[in-house]
Amino acid sequence: MTATSTVDTHCPYCALQCGMGLRPTAGGTVEVVERDFPVNKGALCGKGRTAPGVLLAEGVRLTGPLVRSGATGELEPASWGAALDRVAEGLVRVRAGHGADAVGVFGGGGLTNEKAYALGKFARVVLKTSQIDYNGRFCMSSAAAAHQRAFGLDRGLPFPVADIARTGCVILVGSNLADTMPPALRYLTELKANGGKLIVVDPRRTRTAEQADLHLQPRPGTDLALALGLLHLVVAEGLVDEAFVEERTHGWPEARAAAMAHWPELVERITGVPVPALREAVRLFCGTPEGMVLTARGPEQQAKGTDTVGAWINLCLATGRAGRPRSGYGCLTGQGNGQGGREHGQKADQLPGYRKLDDPAARAHVAGVWGVDPDDLPGPGRSAYELLDALGRDVKGLLLMGSNPVVSAPRAAHITERIAALDFLAVCDVVLSETAAMADVVLPVTQWAEETGTVTNLEGRVLLRRKAIDPPDGVRSDLYVLNVLAAHLGWEKGFATNPEEVFDELRRASAGGPADYSGITYRRIAEEEGVFWPCPADSHPGTPRLFLDRFATPDGRARFVPVMHRPSAEEPDAEYPLYLTTGRVLAQYQSGAQTRRVAELNAAAPGPFVQLHPQLADRLGVADGEPVAVTSRRGRAVAPARVSRGIRPDTVFMPFHWPGEGRANTLTNPALDPASRMPEFKVCAVRVERAQA
Ligand code: SF4
Repeated sequence: MTATSTVDTHCPYCALQCGMGLRPTAGGTVEVVERDFPVNKGALCGKGRTAPGVLLAEGVRLTGPLVRSGATGELEPASWGAALDRVAEGLVRVRAGHGADAVGVFGGGGLTNEKAYALGKFARVVLKTSQIDYNGRFCMSSAAAAHQRAFGLDRGLPFPVADIARTGCVILVGSNLADTMPPALRYLTELKANGGKLIVVDPRRTRTAEQADLHLQPRPGTDLALALGLLHLVVAEGLVDEAFVEERTHGWPEARAAAMAHWPELVERITGVPVPALREAVRLFCGTPEGMVLTARGPEQQAKGTDTVGAWINLCLATGRAGRPRSGYGCLTGQGNGQGGREHGQKADQLPGYRKLDDPAARAHVAGVWGVDPDDLPGPGRSAYELLDALGRDVKGLLLMGSNPVVSAPRAAHITERIAALDFLAVCDVVLSETAAMADVVLPVTQWAEETGTVTNLEGRVLLRRKAIDPPDGVRSDLYVLNVLAAHLGWEKGFATNPEEVFDELRRASAGGPADYSGITYRRIAEEEGVFWPCPADSHPGTPRLFLDRFATPDGRARFVPVMHRPSAEEPDAEYPLYLTTGRVLAQYQSGAQTRRVAELNAAAPGPFVQLHPQLADRLGVADGEPVAVTSRRGRAVAPARVSRGIRPDTVFMPFHWPGEGRANTLTNPALDPASRMPEFKVCAVRVERAQA
């Protein structure tokens, strides 16, 4: 332990990236203290406050490499040298036997920008594989695709989060901020205190929905139709901002025609939202000159997620609520570095700076920074689910960093089987996650307070997480792992292990790209409380607000994309008569690999449950707390019933943080969005029955 005074840093968890201080304790670890940071203004949720619980806890943290013994079949302690030799040997063996694309790489939206960048580079120049993607594909990729399509650029929020409090009306679609990022709730409270209105769209009456002036409770998978119905009413009531549409957009006639095919009574039939509520939503949204639509996983995690987000963007464009102060569309990114993690090359189709891997100019620029021939860079590979589905078939070996697909992937039992079928699996993680427990080699790596690195929050603000304490003796950084493996695999140019050095290379690689970080330095981030990208020069102030003068398309105009409602990939039927939707709870985070190991959080949220309406519970003869079995075409999960009026009678909800028999992702449908390749986590058809206690 080396810390002697409070270190300013940021939370390890969600994309809000709350500022916090870490102060050394007499017990040799650190405690979290408040820090006044513009995003969270000192507030933290329970996850952030208890984050040190994972750092040194006995029996929780991995403190040395593990290698699976050929004799016992068990994971056994090994030296770093032996473990890295084994990883290198495993990867080389697979490559020699089956070709470069037989080695896969799977990253995570929690990795720092430096790690995500280095991992993408490692895959392309050392392993020479096209088979790399990451779990952020499961998070917000549909919003990213819709952003690109409409605006020519993907940044979650094109404005600082504080702007939310100063608009006139917010439509919040499929987000339960009160549980997922509680400090952000203050902006909705301030919005209302300022006289603004809040509309929440969610099949569940969440704690966030309870704050709303209007709660629209559509059937899961129908918010595309809902957005089209609202746009229909906007047109019918003469509320289109014709001047904005004329001056700053393309494609309105086609988008208008699509909306006019979704008249209110039809939309009521599809969504279950009554026509008067649709009219009230339009009255609130258009009753003020400024407005925002914010989406999260609800509309995004669908097999039509890109079109669903696109429909909400069309509503913003038609009403002139985009590219103007205090107005716009934004995506509330989920993972801690969900934004930066999708910009710097761990995506299947991407090079650093949000460049496209199939763009010859992008390949030439990045290859120049990396010192390789552009023709030697592989092309685009498979998306996350498709990569996981190929394990043990085309992809025989996998290097996985910061992800736990055994819990977090859709159709998780199948994906677990695919992982088990690998010839070789190496996992870098801080704890022995369910996926790490299946590995041939587990490498314990630094986390959060033990390392310095940058992350980019949901606003596109690049932040510096600073090292506060030394890691346990047996732990190394992911950058060290890549450095040693690169040398083992014959890469002679070296892989930097100093995060600032990696960031400086990332800056050069991103220069001139859509996500241009070239003017951002560690020093500037520290002095300016983060710098918003794009920031193309040292003298550039950064860009807190995008699109005010022009959108990022070649001609500066936003693009309407005509979209039509269509059913979910799997609708309820006689055999599976209910909708299942999945999500998060306040005290757990994503696959729970870290938060399930924190005592306070486990006490607050000890296990999975099935939320169901009292009418459904009566019909099934199930009382609150009794076990129920939920069955889909993918499998069966069992968890206690939580009977609540806060959900539609035709829908059940399960949080996805837990493994075992209550694993929600045993049930979910891997139907993929054609543009984003996002799986349909948010809706599938299930049967629910009483289970034996
Ligand atoms: Fe951490 Fe997100 Fe909670 Fe803030 S809201 S403390 S970033 S988990």
